[in-house]
Amino acid sequence: MTREILIEVKNLKTHFPVKRKRLKEKKKVVKAIDNISLVIYKGETLGIVGESGSGKSTLGRTILKLTEPTSGEIYYRNTPITKLKGSELQKYRNAMQMVFQDPYSSLNPRMRVGDILQEPMKLQLSMSKEDRQKRVLTLLEKVGLRADAVDKFPHEFSGGQRQRIGIARALAINPAFIIGDEPVSALDVSVQSQVLNLMMDLQEEFNLTYLFISHDLSVVKHISDRVAVMYLGNIVEIGEKEKIFATPRHPYTNALLQAIPVVDFTKKRETNPLKGDLPNPINPPIGCVFHTRCPHVIPKCQQKKPLLQGTDAQQVACFLYEGETTNV
Ligand code: ADP
Ligand code: MG
Repeated sequence: MTREILIEVKNLKTHFPVKRKRLKEKKKVVKAIDNISLVIYKGETLGIVGESGSGKSTLGRTILKLTEPTSGEIYYRNTPITKLKGSELQKYRNAMQMVFQDPYSSLNPRMRVGDILQEPMKLQLSMSKEDRQKRVLTLLEKVGLRADAVDKFPHEFSGGQRQRIGIARALAINPAFIIGDEPVSALDVSVQSQVLNLMMDLQEEFNLTYLFISHDLSVVKHISDRVAVMYLGNIVEIGEKEKIFATPRHPYTNALLQAIPVVDFTKKRETNPLKGDLPNPINPPIGCVFHTRCPHVIPKCQQKKPLLQGTDAQQVACFLYEGETTNV
């Protein structure tokens, strides 16, 4: 079965300049995204997981063109979008929406929910007021909120309800693609799965494609079809969720999986198998970016950067698997 590609990213780099402390100092950059290539298939959820600072949010923002890439290409339905301007860019932007981590700070506290939900429709569609009000009621119903939410303010809702409002706002103008940047990370664990299930139901109903960013592997496991593991601006492993969780290959993926808390306290687990902190992205390690923390490091890792290799079902960037014959 060939799957339709909605978004493709090729050799994407997003580097941020760092302010020089002294005039003579060499120009420095933060390599937030350092050469990422990936595809997102129509209708799927691609989960992006990695420690804080690994570049997940920057990847999402760059795809949405909220941040300019330093180099590389982004394609939407096979159309290159990196150079789009004006109304063409607006059309692209209308097809995508973002749901943020903190539903409270992303909703205007002085606006009633009805107005919050109408706002994107006013900016982007020529709809009558009556149609907008009708659509607001439909959206509220879709995300499981009562119609009387229209006249209330964000502070009158719980965290989970506020995230439902955030999701309704994202859906307001019928996007094809939604990026969730840690959308359940601020919520109580008991509420997280309700919001994740809502997102999954909406995805099915509206044929949505998701890029779902989270530092929490159990959340990513719940919602994703495929998973990409990021480390210091690079994807170190990507593949089908089942493969990544059942047979993780990259030492970093292994370390992340071991760090998931176990419910059964009689089973002992290494608390944090990762040595040391995430290196500074201004001066990332030469060769494999993970080598300074890797339990399997060999001399080659300090000289050359391993590339992703394997099958579509699972690809890993690690010299441990070099030369392996892949049976596609
Ligand atoms: P994550 O979402 O995985 O926590 P981010 O994408 O937010 O990671 O950040 C990746 C790196 O890029 C971090 O080192 C961060 O400090 C840096 N960074 C992010 N945004 C900017 C910016 N606008 N200017 C400078 N540095 C940035
Ligand atoms: Mg982030």
